[in-house]
Formats: sequence, structure tokens, C-alpha cells
Amino acid sequence: MAEDADVIVVGGGLAGLVAATEIADAGKRVIVVDQEGEQSLGGQAFWSFGGLFLVDSPEQRRLGIKDNYDLALQDWLGTAGFDRDDDHWPKRWAEAYVAFAAGEKRDWLRAMGHRIFPVVGWAERGGYDAMGHGNSVPRFHVTWGTGPGIVEPFERRAREAHKSGRLIFKFRHRVDALIIGNGSVEGISGSILEPDNVERGQSSSRKIVGDFTLRAQAVIVASGGIGGNHDLVRQNWPKRLGEPPKNMISGVPEHVDGRMIGITEAAGARLINRDRMWHYVEGIRNWSPIWPRHGIRILPGPSSMWFDATGKRLPAPLFPGSDTLGQLEYIMSTGHDYSWFTLTQSIIKKEFALSGSEQNPDLTGKSWRMTIKRATNKGAPAPVEAFKQKGADFIVRDNLADLVSAMNALSGDNLLELDHIKAQIDARDREMSNPYVKDAQVMNIHNARRYVGDRLIRTAKPHRILDVEHGPLIAVKLNILTRKTLGGFETDLDSRVFGTNGQIIRGLYAAGEAAGFGGGGMHGYRSLEGTFLGGCLFSGRNAGRAAAKGVA
Ligand SMILES: Cc1cc2nc3c(=O)[nH]c(=O)nc-3n(C[C@H](O)[C@H](O)[C@H](O)COP(=O)(O)OP(=O)(O)OC[C@H]3O[C@@H](n4cnc5c(N)ncnc54)[C@H](O)[C@@H]3O)c2cc1C
Repeated sequence: MAEDADVIVVGGGLAGLVAATEIADAGKRVIVVDQEGEQSLGGQAFWSFGGLFLVDSPEQRRLGIKDNYDLALQDWLGTAGFDRDDDHWPKRWAEAYVAFAAGEKRDWLRAMGHRIFPVVGWAERGGYDAMGHGNSVPRFHVTWGTGPGIVEPFERRAREAHKSGRLIFKFRHRVDALIIGNGSVEGISGSILEPDNVERGQSSSRKIVGDFTLRAQAVIVASGGIGGNHDLVRQNWPKRLGEPPKNMISGVPEHVDGRMIGITEAAGARLINRDRMWHYVEGIRNWSPIWPRHGIRILPGPSSMWFDATGKRLPAPLFPGSDTLGQLEYIMSTGHDYSWFTLTQSIIKKEFALSGSEQNPDLTGKSWRMTIKRATNKGAPAPVEAFKQKGADFIVRDNLADLVSAMNALSGDNLLELDHIKAQIDARDREMSNPYVKDAQVMNIHNARRYVGDRLIRTAKPHRILDVEHGPLIAVKLNILTRKTLGGFETDLDSRVFGTNGQIIRGLYAAGEAAGFGGGGMHGYRSLEGTFLGGCLFSGRNAGRAAAKGVA
């Protein structure tokens, strides 16, 4: 049967674009199929903050950060907690990925015009011992231009390949099946969806107007994860985290529907670590939503006080920005699926960042003039102020009694007692008079300010929460926000997919979130952050190169 291309890539997100451009550059013919329209090219990566995990970068060195492969791998392994037989390939991917992040990743991107904001962020700081979870040092490098800035070089290369005839886009083509014969992939079949002019990220029509079949020697599945499909999230919810949350908001567009994962599994591919997911606990409902149940993640600095639904402070070391999975586990153990930040105007101004390209017009628009205001502005960045004023989860009051009563009204649960909250805040505030103290969160704040990047734009000067000079007081109701799928199709280092019989399915590859970013779950249980876009780059590149080499 005549082939339509050498390789078919399912998914025009970052992983798919990277794979497709590698194939075209190798002189092979590639078709990129996506269920969404052309306006959504780039998938989730467009909406992302563009944060990238890099090790021993010039940006780190300029800020005095000493980092290296061994330290990063120690952090990765402590964070991943690999503990299953199925972790063989994920662990090998982890080692290879950390080497990529400490090696050619930055230069490879730079040669394509990618640039980095000079202040390196410090995500997932841990708080256990040196072998436990977390980044020992700041490693979160924000792309200058955020999400669109990471998509741009690959979209440009893809469009060039399109012009020269080596790459064909098939938008509004939804894959419904993989065609397999004699243990080899032969192509795909599916439905053609009606054209739809919705804006990028909005849910598009699923009305079918035709069908299609495409044949090739290899197929790369780069269809993303399950975060937009709450039924699948609940179905795969790990027992170790108790019952799935009743209320969740979505950190991803609806096209992150997980449907292609079921289709690929039905074709015989081996899906592993499906119970490992990366959802955030600092989700706020978007007052100007683009996709259904649209939530935004707060990237918090270290100073907000964090209370569970009953008003009990989260235990050490579960402070803002320390251990996302630990926080999720704790919050679920309370029997409620929300928690509270309590903070001051001085804290929100310096410490609240919102994850998402559209929430960071300064960095996304590559405007130095606007970006510099992060350090010099009197108020919080405009998108944060907008949430403070219009966000359904924000409460601003001049005194604690009013704040707590509004918190009770917002949750409707009436679980918070003023005296209980006040006693905990007073106790924490008494620890502010000395730079050497016993409150571990206050120690963290002092530690953070010893890093110049945090002192400049991420950590407020230590102060008492109830100091009116730093007011008004702010409370934020935090929801669970679905985002990333850490498990995926088991692949070798060439991104070739294993079947349920343990044998490679010839011609089948997986990349990006569908492959658990490589191997079927290179993150293990947790992430050091900035590792997802990088995982798409690395696994997409490996898949593209190997597929191009593998076809006759
Ligand atoms: C707001 C936000 C902020 C983020 N910030 C960061 C960050 O700072 N750092 C970081 O590392 N990561 C970040 N991420 C995560 C990262 O962006 C994603 O994990 C990554 O982009 C996933 O890319 P992907 O190519 O694997 O999948 P996707 O981007 O989901 O692309 C998959 C594509 O496949 C298509 N598709 C699916 N099924 C089918 C089918 N059956 N037929 C045809 N097409 C199909 C979809 O329409 C989609 O276009 C963020 C994500 C979001 C949403």
C-alpha cells in the first residue's frame, strides 16, 4: 500500500513539533495530524510559563549559583523516588535527561534564537534532607517570551519544512485508531472535524464531517496527557492519595483529553505509572476563562501563611513552593479539597507570580521596560492585581476578624475560628524579631533572601503578617488544579514504544506527556519543575531522530 509520508506525528504540541522538525531536517517526509485547528498549533506549550530546568547554566553562574550534574541528579532521584520494576526505563531517561539539561540543551535552543530571562527561579525547594525531594539550588529558567518563545523556533522550522514540501499539516484531523499489521505500525485512521474559528485554547466543535486514513512506516504519538479530562484524572487517582477531589479546576485546555492514550493502549502499547500525576494545590479560578473550568496556578514565594480548610497551619516543610505532592497528600488527608493562603499586600506585591503566558505580558511581550517594574513597582503586577480585585477566590480586608469571617462565607463551611487563626499568626509574627529563629518557614524566608534572585523579585522583606503598615490582609482560597500526567507509554531511549508483551512495537514511538516525557515516567512521583517543556524537547528530538533513521 502506498505511503502518504515516511512518518506521521500525532499531535502538534511542542513534542510533536520538535519530532516533526527533526524528521524533516533529516530529509524525510512527515505529516503532523492534530484534532485542533491551526490557531492552536503548539498545544499547551503556548500557554506555558516557558520555565526550563537547566543545570550549571551561565545564568546560574552569573548569580553565584554553583550547580552540576551530580547535584542535579541527586535532586532528581530524591524527588522521583523510583521504587517499581516499571521504573527501569524511566530512570534511564531521568539520567539521560539530566545530562541533556546539564549539557547541550541550552546551546541547542540558543542556536535557534531562544533566549532566557536572567533571574533564575527556585521552584520545589524541598525542606527534607540532601537526598530528599527538591531543588538544592535555583534552576527554573524562564524563556524570554514565555510559552510562545519556546514554541516559536519549532513552529518556524516546521513552517519552513512545510514550504519545502517535507512537512504537511493536517489540522482538524482526529485520530481514532492506529493501524497495526504483523506487529508493525502501518498508519492511522480517524475523523475529520468541521472547521471551527474558536480562539486558541477554547473548546472546538467535535462534529465529524468525514473520515481519513493515512499510511506511513512510523507513527509518533505526541498527543499530550489527561489533565483536561477530569473523569480520567479521577479514574487514575492513586489510592495513596485517598479519594479523588470532588472539586478540581483545569490548568490545561480541553484538548488535553487523554483520548489518544486509550487508543494507543488499545493498539497494544504498554502504559505504565498511570497513577503518577502532577496537579497543583495553589489553583485559582480564572476570572476571565479561556477553556472550561480554567484555573491558574500561583507560583508562590516563601512567605504566605498556609492554612488547611479547618484553619490549621500546614506542617513543616509544607511551605509555599516546597513540595507540591506532599502538600496535595496533606490537603487530601484533611477531608477537604481546598486550603488557604493568608498574606499581606507586601507579600502579594513581591511574591505572587501566575503561571501562564497570558498572565505575564511583560515577559511574554519581551518588554524590558515592563519587566523591570517587577523589582521597582509599588503594587503587584497588573495581572495579579486584576485577580486580587476580580478573582472569585480572593478576599481583601483591613483586619483579621473581617478576613476570617469572609473566608468562612466564601467556603460556606464555617470551619475557621478567628482565635485559632490569630494565635498561629501571632506566634509566627513573634519570630520576626530575630534573624535566627525556630519557625522553619521563617528560616526559609531568611535563607531565600540570601539568594540575590529571590531578594530582587521573589521574597518580601520579612515582616509581621498583622503589621498594618504591610496591609491590607489578603486571603486566597486555593483549589486543586489538574495539570500534568507523569506516567505514559514505556519507551526505550529512542522513544520506541514497548507492547504489553514486552517487545518493541515496530514503527511506534511516543514523545512528550504521552510518554510520561520519556520512558513512561522519567519524573517518578514528583517534578523539580521546568522539566516538562524540556521533556518534550528531549523526547521529541529523540523520537524524531530515531524515527527518521528507522524508515527506509
Ligand atoms: C498554563 C501552563 C503552564 C505551564 N508551564 C510550564 C513551565 O513553565 N515549564 C514546563 O516545563 N512545563 C510547563 N507546562 C507544561 C507543558 O506546557 C506541557 O506539559 C507540554 O507542553 C505538553 O506538550 P505535549 O506536546 O506533550 O502535549 P500537548 O501540548 O497537549 O499537545 C498535544 C496535541 O495533540 C493533539 N491531540 C490529542 N489527541 C489527539 C488525537 N486523537 N488526534 C489528533 N490530535 C490529537 C492535541 O490537540 C494537542 O494539540 C505548562 C502547561 C500549562 C498549560
